[in-house]
Amino acid sequence: MPTYEFRCRECSGTFEVKRPMSAASDPARCPAGHEDTVKLLTTVGLAGSASAVAAPAGGGGGCCGGGCCG
Ligand SMILES: [Zn+2]
Repeated sequence: MPTYEFRCRECSGTFEVKRPMSAASDPARCPAGHEDTVKLLTTVGLAGSASAVAAPAGGGGGCCGGGCCG
């Protein structure tokens, strides 16, 4: 389950909430009980999928393989 980071605008504190993606945009209550919170960028727990997306698809179908590089 992803972790979402929130910041409270009443006490300026930050806190994390674990919740399903389907509830990602739901309001969260500060540990001190304040309800005026904003969701920060999600930074936790998704590094693995990010690196998978960034991996190049090299090795297959390259130009050099087709004889057009010289
Ligand atoms: Zn607060």
